Amino acid sequence: MAGAFFRENDIRSGDFGKFIDACRVKDIKRFFLDSKGRPLKKYFSCCACPGCGKKGNPLYFMKEKFIFRLCKKCGTLYISPRPKLKRLSDYYADAESIRIFTREVLEKTAAVRKEKIFLPRAERLCRYLKNFKAGKQLLVEIGGGNGIFLELLKERKLGFGEYLNIEPSGEGARLSRARGIKTLNCLAEETRGLQADCICAFELIEHLFDPLAFCRQVRSLLKPGGVFILTTPNINGFDLLLLGKDSYNISGPNHLNYFNPESMAILLKRSGFKVVALETPGVLDVDIVYNRVKGGYKLNDRFVLSLLNKGDSLRDKLQLFLQDNLLSSNMLVVARKSC
Ligand SMILES: [Zn+2]
Repeated sequence: MAGAFFRENDIRSGDFGKFIDACRVKDIKRFFLDSKGRPLKKYFSCCACPGCGKKGNPLYFMKEKFIFRLCKKCGTLYISPRPKLKRLSDYYADAESIRIFTREVLEKTAAVRKEKIFLPRAERLCRYLKNFKAGKQLLVEIGGGNGIFLELLKERKLGFGEYLNIEPSGEGARLSRARGIKTLNCLAEETRGLQADCICAFELIEHLFDPLAFCRQVRSLLKPGGVFILTTPNINGFDLLLLGKDSYNISGPNHLNYFNPESMAILLKRSGFKVVALETPGVLDVDIVYNRVKGGYKLNDRFVLSLLNKGDSLRDKLQLFLQDNLLSSNMLVVARKSC
């Protein structure tokens, strides 16, 4: 019997994950390493914990030449030294792994992503905006890509006067405009003079060079009392804790920051926000670990292994338990601009 949740293979295949990883390793060599495979120092800079600002956290592990640190104070996992902004944007503009992922994964699973990811997200967003009585003039999505999510929101007739996508990639901005979504083709950091009632940023903050500066910029683009809604991985969630550095999600330089519910609240407070709701609505944790084990991954946890092998129904119950207890690896945060 099929389970209650959609599955990892609906939106990407595990084998393809391996292939993309191999492409990314080639890209890392091309963009960030010297001929002997050592990181080119001129492209990197050190940073403090992106969650709480603590300096001097020790090395936690290395992966693909990137140094991951775990903050002793707030538990954020982060890459430092990390690629400088200019080199990072060159990488995003030109890396083969990014191109293949966009073409072969995002585009080919667009329909199922719209139904299984964007639609539930839109419903959640509507609920929160109603609960928190957000204003209704301007809703902005930062990094809204091809504009599918805003298109869905418009179709739901939420009553917003205007919807705006701020999308740095030329291709994303073009597709977004073609859907009839008003779009600025630039970075959020370059945007001035907006007074939004709500700003959304989905699966974005983990990619950013400077999350604190970004959150402060979001704050400056919101009206007093405006709502900021974001999603990002939760490093204290099920599959990320079980698979650790072996998770495909642990992938520099794409992901630089891995927060948890506590460190997210700290970061948002430092940026002038108050967290008003936080949940982990992820649906893939159990399936991700299950697929890895089926593919030969050696998981050293006999209890979890026995749970995974008890069938779809129990795996779905476990996923529900993770959702209900802030233990999924995907979190959604709603914050209000403090006055
Ligand atoms: Zn910290």
